[in-house]
Formats: sequence, structure tokens, C-alpha cells
Amino acid sequence: MGILEVKNVGKRFGGLQALGNVNLSVAENSVHAIIGPNGAGKSTLLNCLVGKLIPDSGSVTFQGESVLGRKPHEINQMGISRVFQTPEIFSDLSVFENVMIPCFAKRDGAFAMNAVTSVRGQSDIRQQAEEILADVNMLDKRHMIAASLSRGDKRRLEMAMCLVQQPRLLLLDEPTAGMARADTNNTIELLKEIKAKRDITMAIIEHDMHVVFSLAERITVLAQGTPLVEDTPDNIKGHPKVQEAYLGQAH
Ligand code: ADP
Ligand code: MG
Repeated sequence: MGILEVKNVGKRFGGLQALGNVNLSVAENSVHAIIGPNGAGKSTLLNCLVGKLIPDSGSVTFQGESVLGRKPHEINQMGISRVFQTPEIFSDLSVFENVMIPCFAKRDGAFAMNAVTSVRGQSDIRQQAEEILADVNMLDKRHMIAASLSRGDKRRLEMAMCLVQQPRLLLLDEPTAGMARADTNNTIELLKEIKAKRDITMAIIEHDMHVVFSLAERITVLAQGTPLVEDTPDNIKGHPKVQEAYLGQAH
């Protein structure tokens, strides 16, 4: 059994069947990519995994426990963290303060903007934050204000804010969307480094096949809300059904 099991999940928006009957099993410590053309249901599926949407049918379990009906912060506490398409950081705080906020939230089970001042000086949390920033190669930028970071560094910071919560499963929604090739390659390297340093499972929604084939061990292709194929990257490359699903799509 995988660390994440999605069984027969369906979701309608009015008359539109966004997810038909989705089955997905993500193996522990693997990198699993979910790909598919625009409108295939990728974001809808992700939202069902993190408590933003409740499916109409089916089940979603993480480490054997159902995530359905739980609030996003509860799912987060179960060990699932999500990196958003647009980095969600506190622009007017420093890099270091940004990383301390989730440490505080995790420890106290609450999210407070005054967290930064109240945790200042607490050495365990400072040490944790420093370790994570070193992991994502941002220690030298810890005093910079987040707003002044490059797009790639904002993504690194957001990754640090996720990792500091020590998730078992990291969900990434198009982590390289809108990035220049250099930043994309940087992100690929970062994810490889993260993977090499810790036991973590990654599920990546991605449009860029270069990213998918650089990182994924398994790939699920979604089309019109239904998994078309699930296989290894080598078998997915040139698969006639995949070609069909992507016909006319720009990547
Ligand atoms: P993808 O992420 O693969 O591009 P989405 O999951 O965003 O696809 O969308 C799947 C389908 O569901 C699309 O047709 C989209 O227009 C529709 N959809 C997504 N969210 C909503 C919503 N909140 N209300 C109505 N329709 C939606
Ligand atoms: Mg989407």
C-alpha cells in the first residue's frame, strides 16, 4: 500500500465532471508526477488531497488515515505540505522570520502573525530554521526581506517553509510554472537535493516534461478527470495515449 491512496474519487462542479473515477497510489519515498492537459483535473485532485475540496465520492487516505472531512491545517499536521503555484510567503518579513512562522504554528497548533516576535530568541526554533535554510542554500540570504528575492529564491523560501514542518509528503503544484530555464533547472536540483537528504515522498503536478522526466519515478497521466495511464517515465515517453492526450498542447 502506498503512503497516499486515492480510491474511486469523483468530483462534479455543477454539470461538469471534473474528476471521474480517480485511483492513485503514491509509494512511500518516491517522486510521483501527475501530468495532463489543461482542465484535466490536476488541481481539483490536489485540492481534494489537502482539504480544500471534498470529493463527491471515493476515499483518500494518508498513512492509512482518511484525510476527507479534515481541515487543511489538520491535514498539514498529519504530515502533508503543499507548495503553491504562486509562492505564499510573507513579503515584508525577512527570510529567516518566514521560516520561523511555520515552526511556531507546528509546535503550538496555531497560526499567529505575532509568532515572529514571540519566538524570537527561542534557540530550538532558530536552530531548526537555520538548518532548513542551509538545506535550501539560503542561509546567506536570511536577513533579506522576502519581497526583494528573485522568483527562484521565493520558491526556495516557500520550500523551506514547507520542509521546516517536516512533512512526510510534499505536494507540488507546478513548482516551475513561469520560471526561466535556469530557475527551472535550479528547482530540479533543489528537489533532488531535498530528496537525497531526507525521507520524503513527493507528488508533483507539472506541465513541463523536462521537470517530470528529471524527477519522477512514476507518472500518472490524467485526461478529462480520469487516469489514462500510470507507468515509469521510460514507458510513458512515446506512449500513444499520452501523445493523444497532449495533442495540440504547448509545453
Ligand atoms: P487542471 O489543473 O488539470 O488544469 P482543474 O482541476 O483546474 O484542471 O479543472 C478541471 C475542470 O474543472 C476544468 O474544466 C475547470 O474549468 C473545472 N473547475 C475547476 N474548478 C472549478 C470550480 N471551482 N468551479 C467550477 N468548475 C471548476
Ligand atoms: Mg491546475
